[in-house]
Amino acid sequence: MNASEIIDKVRSEGRTILTEIESKQLIKQAGISVSDTRLAISGEEAISISKQFGFPVVLKIASPDVVHKSDAGGVKVGLKTSKQVGKAYDSILGAIRQKYPQAMIQGVSVQKIARPGVEVIIGMSKDAQFGPVLMFGLGGILVEILKDVSFRIVPLTKRDAGEMIKEIKGYPLLQGYRGQEPVDVLNLEELLLKVSDFVEQNPVVKELDLNPIFAYSNGAIAVDARVVLEESS
Ligand code: ADP
Ligand code: MG
Repeated sequence: MNASEIIDKVRSEGRTILTEIESKQLIKQAGISVSDTRLAISGEEAISISKQFGFPVVLKIASPDVVHKSDAGGVKVGLKTSKQVGKAYDSILGAIRQKYPQAMIQGVSVQKIARPGVEVIIGMSKDAQFGPVLMFGLGGILVEILKDVSFRIVPLTKRDAGEMIKEIKGYPLLQGYRGQEPVDVLNLEELLLKVSDFVEQNPVVKELDLNPIFAYSNGAIAVDARVVLEESS
């Protein structure tokens, strides 16, 4: 499906929130790397996709109604065998049905496990005055508790992208810390510019969250994505 087909499908179902799978399909077309992700609608299918990907895999709830998937018991990381995948499939559906009885559930997404990297996040929200604004930060507590983030108005210049990365307090963590690999900062700049282009070309996108992106010394990959559309007029 191309970008407009994905958007049309979501709207035809009366939704504005895309699932992680739909969000990844959309941003992948903008040249943003995402972890390979496929929808399974049964435990057997989850196992067969896992075998095609190769173990270990990650399973997650695929529902537009579950925003914080791991808080709800909707994420299982590092599944190494068919048996673990089958059990994880049932456990995810059980947890979500209990916690969100009203949730529309598409199934469970199966994805390749990404090698650990430095977790960064990129977000977009729309400001009443400035329009789309991009946010950059380091994943986990640095964003959630310390609010160590930077903002720039779309469209970003190359210079904006560089400044956004360097002005966060956690920047030294990107340069290699306690044996962690240094991150390819130029690649992150390019990623910010790609997100800026994507946002500019798709005004129907109201909000975007890539949280987290695993950043490496060679490239970066978004392992979670969430897109929200404007209400259709
Ligand atoms: P949510 O933010 O909805 O709770 P995520 O999709 O972000 O769920 O998953 C929670 C955590 O699991 C991520 O922050 C990341 O650390 C880990 N994770 C998710 N997907 C992958 C993946 N494909 N490979 C490796 N780790 C992953
Ligand atoms: Mg996430």
